[in-house]
Amino acid sequence: MGSARVPEFRITMETPTHVLRPRSLNGATPPRWIEGRALADYGKYLTDESRHTGHAAALVFPTCIEEVAGAVLEARRRGLPVTVSNARTGIAGGAVPAGGLLLSLERMNRIRGLRHGPDVGFLVRCEAGVLLSELQDSVATGSFADSAGWSDESRACLERLRRGRYLYPPDPTERGAAMGGTIACNASGAHTFLYGPTRPYVQSLLVVLADGRVLDIGRGQARAREDGEFALALPGGGMRRGRIPSYRWPRTKNSGGYYAEPRMDLLDLFIGSEGTLGIIVGAEVRLVPAPEANCAVVTFWPDEAAAVAFTRRLRTERQDLGVEAIEYFGPNALDLLRQRRETMGAISGVPERLPGPGACAIYLDLGTDTGRLAAVLGSLCELVAAVGGDPEHCWSAMARDERERLRVFRHALPETVNGVIAEVRRRHPGVTKLGTDMAVPDEGLEGVLALYRSALDRAGLHYVVFGHIGDNHLHVNILPRDPAEYAAGRRLYEGFARDVVAMGGSPAAEHGIGKLKTSFLTILFGPEGLAEMRAVKAVFDPESRLGVGTLFPEEAQ
Ligand SMILES: Cc1cc2nc3c(=O)[nH]c(=O)nc-3n(C[C@H](O)[C@H](O)[C@H](O)COP(=O)(O)OP(=O)(O)OC[C@H]3O[C@@H](n4cnc5c(N)ncnc54)[C@H](O)[C@@H]3O)c2cc1C
Repeated sequence: MGSARVPEFRITMETPTHVLRPRSLNGATPPRWIEGRALADYGKYLTDESRHTGHAAALVFPTCIEEVAGAVLEARRRGLPVTVSNARTGIAGGAVPAGGLLLSLERMNRIRGLRHGPDVGFLVRCEAGVLLSELQDSVATGSFADSAGWSDESRACLERLRRGRYLYPPDPTERGAAMGGTIACNASGAHTFLYGPTRPYVQSLLVVLADGRVLDIGRGQARAREDGEFALALPGGGMRRGRIPSYRWPRTKNSGGYYAEPRMDLLDLFIGSEGTLGIIVGAEVRLVPAPEANCAVVTFWPDEAAAVAFTRRLRTERQDLGVEAIEYFGPNALDLLRQRRETMGAISGVPERLPGPGACAIYLDLGTDTGRLAAVLGSLCELVAAVGGDPEHCWSAMARDERERLRVFRHALPETVNGVIAEVRRRHPGVTKLGTDMAVPDEGLEGVLALYRSALDRAGLHYVVFGHIGDNHLHVNILPRDPAEYAAGRRLYEGFARDVVAMGGSPAAEHGIGKLKTSFLTILFGPEGLAEMRAVKAVFDPESRLGVGTLFPEEAQ
């Protein structure tokens, strides 16, 4: 594959320091403070896609960095904690306030400019509230709503960008998420298989700290020392010293806890910190060359073992075939889709002829050069046949509207699951979907599938397994039919988290910890790891005022 290959990330700095030096901001002013009865009109800001609801003493919508700093200082003066909220698409409750000031970044939504990146791509500068959909669509079309106000350098870059095809790869399914939120959660998705999560695309961040100072931090500028030590310069001179946690980061996708590795770039501490270390107000992110041609393919397999064997072969061909995503539909998932087709007919988004019970499907996104597409599809057919599949029974889609049809098919599953749960909730309002978000290292894939199947079948629960098999990151959705099954499902869910961690994986691979999955952090890193995370937080937020209740449960008020 040519153009979809992710370029190496290279920035060379002379001697990165281990000391972060935030600056004080002139002109910090609090924005309009919405409180008391006026808050009643803003109920939607107290909740997110987790459907949990919180409470706040006040709400602000800053429109510039001075107002963010002003709000933070005013909250400090009033003794209020601060919860950061962006597009509120999070499903772990991180943006749901547990009292204090709720600071929404949705009005900081401008794309500020463009420059050349350290490699063949570009860097785009945006405010935290810019929606992922807006950024990605602007890059794809070369049309930026705010470009009239850009500098000459940015506009010249835009002309060059328009001559090629570029892409901002992070894809957390929900494109209504905001850039600040995706960075705060290190969002990832199906295409993470080829492109990685959000982290490697973040080049620099502008962060307002809990004391109202501003940290402008670029990749390669500051690193922890060999022994993990780093420091934050204090306003009156002196330093507050900290140490990178000593826990071992899972060898899988992981969105739980502060990132930690030897001599790590200190920029990476903020990516995935879920609003507990600072408020990300702006970012510069990397664009990479986009593939010239895209194709979606669905392949069918007689059973789970064959689907896994195909996945393993695809992994070795990832770069050559330009495999962007490998997504799995287990036997129960196809059963549910078959039922959907029977009930809803053609409008179900599910084609008529799905293979019979026991079969599985693997969905692929491919991205390559136009001139190579036919050869890539030929190699894919050979691969399907080599693993024992039937290339005649694959669906493929190249034109945009055909690919859209396969995308609808792919998304029909979560939609059907939500419909099933909504039906059960009419009779049992306390029952919710139990959706896991766990990843294991490569060698654990067969083991974890067997674990899920045996435990759930033994318990007699209704469930589907689907998702990012390329990254060994499968979602189990347990569909309880009554409160007793709900309780049994919850117990299994917690047990899966322990098993997955024992396999070297993550119980929170992409949706974050937020306020709802804090017990998983203890399972993942143990009480010692949690204590090390608290020590990191104390460097940036010694009064523990940011993101109260997120990551660290007992702080909730
Ligand atoms: C249908 C659906 C599918 C989804 N699929 C995926 C998926 O595949 N992969 C995935 O990763 N996620 C997925 N998500 C979850 C969600 O979209 C992501 O977590 C997203 O990154 C959240 O962005 P947001 O702007 O909505 O953040 P919010 O929900 O507003 O906030 C999320 C967290 O980040 C913090 N935060 C937000 N903005 C900032 C900031 N500027 N500075 C500091 N902290 C901040 C908040 O305090 C909170 O803790 C899905 C959600 C939905 C509804």
